[in-house]
Amino acid sequence: MVSRRMLLGALAGLAAPALAFAEGEGPAKPSILTKKGRRTRAALKHQAGDKAALDKALASVKPMEAEAPPPPPEGPPQAVTPDEALGRLKQGNAIFARGGASIALPSLARIADLSKGQAPFAVIVGCSDSRVGPELIFDCNLGELFVVRVAGSTVSREGLGSIVYAVEHLGAPLIVVLGHAQCGAVGAAVDVATKHAELHGPLHEMILPILPAVIEAEDQHPSDLLDAAVRQNVRDVARRLKTADGVLAEKLSQRRLKIVSAYYDLTTGVVAFEA
Ligand SMILES: [Zn+2]
Repeated sequence: MVSRRMLLGALAGLAAPALAFAEGEGPAKPSILTKKGRRTRAALKHQAGDKAALDKALASVKPMEAEAPPPPPEGPPQAVTPDEALGRLKQGNAIFARGGASIALPSLARIADLSKGQAPFAVIVGCSDSRVGPELIFDCNLGELFVVRVAGSTVSREGLGSIVYAVEHLGAPLIVVLGHAQCGAVGAAVDVATKHAELHGPLHEMILPILPAVIEAEDQHPSDLLDAAVRQNVRDVARRLKTADGVLAEKLSQRRLKIVSAYYDLTTGVVAFEA
């Protein structure tokens, strides 16, 4: 078995891009006003011909403190609340799991209508596994879900950008980080952690962001380490997303966004959500 110290050392030494967002950036600091004020004063000092003119000009500079803070970004209107969006996913999965999926191919008129824009009601951060297609298991159609999929349900910087885009510019009120039973990517991470398995190049990079969840799951001494690691992994990704970007953090604080993890059972077709 690979020791915890070895694994953590490897993680620290290989700062994969996929891990970068996990550290969290938090909301951007309001530094624009300060910079603007300094630039204005410096420019006046440089251009003024004499002290009197300089004093007069400086007196006209609006104090930084007097400037009103920029209004909060409005973003597109939300068609549904986070809880309503979650309800739609639960209802859609219930339909799927009892074998009554109502999905039909969209009409040509509907396809043309979607060309004018999109307003997905949820972002699904899922695994690439061919058995866990989000539109199918949630009984959804074109234009309803914004899907970011990588084997192991992890999020790279590019993935984070995709998520922020969906929330900020498309108005999606819900992010679901979805794992699933018997996930091959998480299984590979478990093998690396417990059996000295070696993966080459991109495969190794793919499982690196999953290793901390495997270590956390090991600490719980579960009877099924793979299953525990899958659940811990999506829980961790959802938690990190809450602090990974200022836009997401702000919408969370305004209750205009919800981020949850979920687990798909390959055998029953049922998705179990965690708050
Ligand atoms: Zn998977």
